[in-house]
Amino acid sequence: MVAALKNRISPAHDLINPYETALEQYERATNRLGIDENVVEYMKWPHRELTVNFPVKRDTGKIEMFTGYRVHHSTVMGPSKGGIRFSTDVTLDEVRALAMWMTWKCALVNLPYGGAKGGVLVDPKSLSAREIESLTRRYASELIPLISPHSDIPAPDMGTTPQMMAWIMDTYSMTVGYAVPAVVTGKPINIGGSQGRTEATGRGVIVSMMEALKRHGRTVKEDIRLVIQGFGNVGSHAAAYAYDLGYKVLAVSDVNGGIYNPNGLNIPSVRSYVAETGGLSGYPSAEPVTNEELLLLPCEVLIPAAMEGQITGENAARLQTQFIVEGANGPTTPEADDIINERGIFLVPDILANAGGVVVSYFEWVQDLQAFFWDEEEIFRQLERILVKAYDATVRTAEEYNVDMRTAAQMTAIKRVAEALMTRGFYP
Ligand code: NAD
Repeated sequence: MVAALKNRISPAHDLINPYETALEQYERATNRLGIDENVVEYMKWPHRELTVNFPVKRDTGKIEMFTGYRVHHSTVMGPSKGGIRFSTDVTLDEVRALAMWMTWKCALVNLPYGGAKGGVLVDPKSLSAREIESLTRRYASELIPLISPHSDIPAPDMGTTPQMMAWIMDTYSMTVGYAVPAVVTGKPINIGGSQGRTEATGRGVIVSMMEALKRHGRTVKEDIRLVIQGFGNVGSHAAAYAYDLGYKVLAVSDVNGGIYNPNGLNIPSVRSYVAETGGLSGYPSAEPVTNEELLLLPCEVLIPAAMEGQITGENAARLQTQFIVEGANGPTTPEADDIINERGIFLVPDILANAGGVVVSYFEWVQDLQAFFWDEEEIFRQLERILVKAYDATVRTAEEYNVDMRTAAQMTAIKRVAEALMTRGFYP
């Protein structure tokens, strides 16, 4: 049994542990801030962690056990907020890292939330529709002591969809006896979801990219070539929005590899192909590339939008990009950060670049609590306003302390949480 459990841990995390990355980033940021060491120690720790092992009846009648986690890193600023990931790479350390990054992300964009994250070790594609519903509902019921509109509000992340959020909302609602749309965000619109939530993260990535380009005087869209790793929720919507705006998207990828056309891909056609075939492989009018090769393609903007630990000490020196805009959480290791900074590649960090998702999740929660819904134009206007303001705050910190954008974004966020913590005090 122990061997079977160990087999579920991805070897990738033996090499790059996202929690080590998150803690190293935290140390770099807090070293420069000069805040009370008791506060620094307190904020380093996840507030609470739940591990659940639960059964799912397979279509064959066999019961299979699955492992899931939910970590609340912080509830200093408000209820904790963070996605749920279904992936065979999930580990407790990964969830801890993602929860910590959520705390800083929410603080950076000034949302009244702490940070959380959840995950289940499962390949959702390996289960039937009935099995995945059963797994999602059972995991949701295991989370009931933790989640509610006022304590912890989950959302989608890698491997999870609006339909799964609907099942979580329904499971919670059935337990309490009335409909509670605000318990989860990223739901379908017909049960209290928000306009614009599905595309919010990808769109926000492009808003942050444009802000970075504008501030570097790079305003001619036709001169900007993008390479995007990951063609899921974040990557595909980033690609679509960039394409609509007139940028050239040269390459995109999924878990099985990528496609590359030096003259630019027709993104609507790529999206139709993926909708029909389920993946990118075999897409005509493009060359196949591996994910490793894709990261090293010549471009102006590289957007990692798949998972952690992709840009490392091993490949950072060989990148051929001028800007990196992080759609994924934690795609760059601290060792790679040093190389990127030394090479003068300008990086817009994850907690800033991909904050569009949690911002529109916040709008969804507010709309659900008020039972009053906004139109898409209002959502995107407010989203852009908040992201540009956070970008501004990050640049001001970077200039004041003479630090890179990642350290600046984390310093800005950590300072806000630290001040709130000191105002609240240490209970009892
Ligand atoms: P998704 O499941 O919709 O898509 C993930 C994509 O990455 C898919 O194309 C998948 O094939 C690909 N992929 C998976 N493993 C890979 C690997 N080892 N190498 C290359 N590609 C791989 O997930 P998503 O919601 O788009 O999330 C992507 C990243 O963005 C994650 O880091 C997530 O935490 C982050 N993020 C997501 C949101 C959101 O709103 N969904 C918000 C903020 C950050």
